[in-house]
Amino acid sequence: MKVLVTGGAGYIGTHCLVELMQAGIEPVVLDNLSNADPSALARVEQITGQAPIFIEGDIRDHRVLELTFQAHRPQAVLHLAGLKAVGESVEKPLEYYDNNIAGTLQLLHTMREYQCRQIVFSSSATVYGDPQTLPIPESAPIGGTTNPYGTSKYMIERILSDWAHADPQAQVIALRYFNPVGAHPSGLIGEDPKGLPNNLMPFIQKVAVGELEQLSVFGDDYDTIDGTGVRDYLHVVDLAKGHLAAIQRMLRESDTGFEAINLGTGNGISVLQMVNAFERASDQTVAYQIAPRRPGDIAACYADASCALDKLNWRAELDLTQMCQDAWRWQQFIAGK
Ligand code: NAD
Ligand code: UDP
Repeated sequence: MKVLVTGGAGYIGTHCLVELMQAGIEPVVLDNLSNADPSALARVEQITGQAPIFIEGDIRDHRVLELTFQAHRPQAVLHLAGLKAVGESVEKPLEYYDNNIAGTLQLLHTMREYQCRQIVFSSSATVYGDPQTLPIPESAPIGGTTNPYGTSKYMIERILSDWAHADPQAQVIALRYFNPVGAHPSGLIGEDPKGLPNNLMPFIQKVAVGELEQLSVFGDDYDTIDGTGVRDYLHVVDLAKGHLAAIQRMLRESDTGFEAINLGTGNGISVLQMVNAFERASDQTVAYQIAPRRPGDIAACYADASCALDKLNWRAELDLTQMCQDAWRWQQFIAGK
């Protein structure tokens, strides 16, 4: 059974490929390599013993999508392709809306043409904006987004929901990820952002390995355990297992319609708690300074993870130490390349 994985050569995509392949599902990767290196797919092969099918192409290119569906007839789609840098999305909103929204529309048109009606979408906790309730349940209001990246996720959820409403056979699961971190325990795949990292964990990794001098902690005056921002970090392997659970549920059950499901641990971790955990796991010092708050940041964000347990029988298994140990193993691998 084949599943199309758009954006499958990226950070989360490669981890999903490993889980799918180990479960006997054949992934077909469509990726334009705008934020990925094909060597990551070779390392997926090293882990699984099989090369994933790979098509280099853009989801906005209808011809490429047609050829892909004609050749492989995927039963379902894991839709991960997208641009994801929050700051860049503020600078380049049209590029973000074009890539993420126009790309999704092309994909849905082609799915409809080929009677493929099952899709799992990479959404994000960012759709909740500044949450009114913690932990955040899926029923919390969405759409109070503060940047074009987040708004594109919100809009795509609406499009998918309308599509599922109009087509009685459509099955859509929007997975609202909290903060994926870490890497595969083999140390062969992980996140390798180009330039200065925007996110906390890759920044800490680069300070620990000596590539960056110190971390700026954005604010220590929030109403949180130690004044620094709190997030729900989850191991990328757990996240990938959540995708497998979503696909398996779609294939097993004929529930139709649109569902949104949080993928998080349910635990909030502060910036300083993360720094300490990483120092312990890596046996390195992570130098930091307290800096002003980052514009647009919220104090705290963590999931009510009970729906994923009910609907997908999924819960995060890997703890903060494993997230840090695996991130550190990966960081050493890329530093030595
Ligand atoms: P990533 O950049 O590593 O992976 C995205 C992949 O999509 C890349 O390989 C890129 O080359 C590809 N791509 C982008 N535009 C494309 C297009 N038009 N056609 C074909 N391929 C295209 O990012 P990731 O962290 O693996 O994220 C995967 C998905 O999860 C994204 O949609 C992202 O918005 C979403 N997400 C990520 C996080 C996170 O913290 N990493 C959190 C919430 C949601
Ligand atoms: N953060 C920080 N320094 C950095 C990057 C992030 O202090 O260099 C903080 C940020 O303010 C937030 C937390 O770390 O409180 C997680 O930030 P990230 O960008 O990784 O995730 P997001 O804010 O998108 O959930």
